[in-house]
Amino acid sequence: MEKTYSAPGLTVVEHPLLGRAAVAERAFRCGEVVAIWRGRTITERQALALASDERDQLLQVGDDAFLVNDEELLAADFINHSCEPNCGFTDATTLVAMRDIKTGESVTFDYAMSDTNSFITFDCQCGTPRCRHRMSGSDWRLSQLQERYAGWFAPHVARLIASVTEPVGNQPTRDASLTHD
Ligand SMILES: [Zn+2]
Repeated sequence: MEKTYSAPGLTVVEHPLLGRAAVAERAFRCGEVVAIWRGRTITERQALALASDERDQLLQVGDDAFLVNDEELLAADFINHSCEPNCGFTDATTLVAMRDIKTGESVTFDYAMSDTNSFITFDCQCGTPRCRHRMSGSDWRLSQLQERYAGWFAPHVARLIASVTEPVGNQPTRDASLTHD
């Protein structure tokens, strides 16, 4: 099985509030791939049967699909949530710097970009000015996050957002031809 990619220069430090946290040991450029997670997938029902510390390591990659890493944990496995993150997704398992990241900065993404499940709820202590204080699996519904992270959501979350933001009854009709003139 292909292994998780954890970018060189990503390291793990002990964080006073967050436990272990992935930190940039060097500068990352906007657009640089930070992590590509690999593993086997399980369902939400199977995820709920795991111990909570095992569940903390999961990455949601589909509506009912979670990636489990059975290999040794890498720095990429300690990328934490932030309400003001510096990374986002370009596909279900690839995390990319959304902006330049300075040496010493924590490398983070907003779990609302990937998580729509029932068990992700936690009190956030990211300490950023935009902190929501409570992270939940329904945060993808927040319009300010949908705007801020447009293009950076994992595909299954982007689909979910599109499905609830499209006007009801927005199907092709005979009127569609009128838009061409
Ligand atoms: Zn926060």
